[in-house]
Amino acid sequence: MNKIILFNPKSANWKHRIPNSILQIGASIHNKHEYVFVDGNLETDCWNKIKKYLDTNEYKYFAVTVMPGMQLRQAIPFSKKVRESFPSVKIIWGGYFASNQYKVCLESGFVDFIINGPGDEAFPQLIDALEKNADYSSINNLIYRKENQIVKTHKSDLIDQDTLPPLPYDYLNRFYSIEKYLGKTFLGKRTAAYHSSVGCPFTCSFCAVVPIYQARWKGKSAKNVFNDLMYLKERFKIDAVEFHDNNFFVSEKRTVEFAELVKNEKINWWGEGRIDTIDKYKDDSLEMMKEAGCKMIFFGAETGNDDILKQMDKGGTQSREQIIGFAKRLRRFNIIPEYSFVLGLPADSESKVYQQINDDINFIKEIKEVNPDTEIIIYVYSPVPTEGSELYEQVTKAGFKFPSNLEEWLSPSWENFDLRKNPLTPWLKPFMIDRIKNFETVLNGYFPTVSDYKLTSFQRKVIKFFSAWRYKTGFYYFPYEIKFLQRFWLKYRQPEIEGFYAE
Ligand code: SF4
Repeated sequence: MNKIILFNPKSANWKHRIPNSILQIGASIHNKHEYVFVDGNLETDCWNKIKKYLDTNEYKYFAVTVMPGMQLRQAIPFSKKVRESFPSVKIIWGGYFASNQYKVCLESGFVDFIINGPGDEAFPQLIDALEKNADYSSINNLIYRKENQIVKTHKSDLIDQDTLPPLPYDYLNRFYSIEKYLGKTFLGKRTAAYHSSVGCPFTCSFCAVVPIYQARWKGKSAKNVFNDLMYLKERFKIDAVEFHDNNFFVSEKRTVEFAELVKNEKINWWGEGRIDTIDKYKDDSLEMMKEAGCKMIFFGAETGNDDILKQMDKGGTQSREQIIGFAKRLRRFNIIPEYSFVLGLPADSESKVYQQINDDINFIKEIKEVNPDTEIIIYVYSPVPTEGSELYEQVTKAGFKFPSNLEEWLSPSWENFDLRKNPLTPWLKPFMIDRIKNFETVLNGYFPTVSDYKLTSFQRKVIKFFSAWRYKTGFYYFPYEIKFLQRFWLKYRQPEIEGFYAE
């Protein structure tokens, strides 16, 4: 039987997390097919490693998980080299980038199949079909080319997550020590990354999750999440978890059950949720979460403009008033809200775009007044619109378009696209970007992030002192002195780019 390479391209320069995507695909073929893991994050000469496997002629499948951004830097050239040097190897891509940009991927000539969404069933079925030289057209969640046509097969229902096979941590540990993935963060000394659910029941019009999961969500039961974490605690001594689910908190019942189970285990945790969902949670539930180690929750606050919130299709219930009221509410429970904002959305005129940026800056300051602990993450808007959505129409009309070939995605401006730091959006003028960035610098100076546990209280006080006059007067221009301190003295890291501080 032919063997498989599961490849996780390099996704960060530091703080390497357990590569859950390839781990989960590994689980789907474990004990059925022979496979190896290659993690670009932990390899110094990654191509050489892949080539050595392929040179044995035992490997016929090169499966790559691809998120937008840094992963493309290895995914594209390595897949191309595999095609050139080992033309009989089948190249299979999965992940958000592949699913959402499937046309450019398949037209590149070096991607044969795309797993469109979860691969728990599609991946092993595709390998079985290819091994038997059988027809694969009836396999769900696939995209491929057939006689110059792109074929998208039926999207299957999300499977019951409790029926999934266990993740092969011990097998991964043979390739890369799990130790290397357990970083020190503000949550704990040995922080693991874990996925407890897939998808999201909402349809925010800018979100890359929507076209893939189509407003569906399935979570593992609280008991199974707890059992997995206990395994990681006993086997690898973890003391903290980042839940990298798109939306961990969909079910209050599941969250509370999990909190009750984990509360005596001394595990701190963090996850992503929605303001309008968790604002419906009972006070008792929030209290239980806090007791059980929930330190911080990430929320897409997006903007303080109710009309834009509606346009973003945030589910219809999130409002300016709620965003601010909820920050205040969470303060009572000592859970830190981590609010992300998207500044620079398209509008009818230049002055309106700029006005909205300034309104949101003022809104952020209002939030800081009611709950100064709120962590603020600012993104510059870059469209990941759902085709056919109102937002998609709007950004296309305003002159935006995605690259028309894969190599173009490697240009520096597109590479940063997903980080929303360097948008290619014609309605945003340089002075607007400066305004956003300068405010962000001043804000981060006046309120240094709690997630960077390396900052001493003295450092925090000094940078706050230097930033105070700017923050209070609203004079954000040229904040070079703050940048200088952040860069050379504090070695400040931005959580939106680099995640929590870890080593
Ligand atoms: S709630 Fe979050 S994950 Fe769900 S659709 Fe909106 S942005 Fe995406």
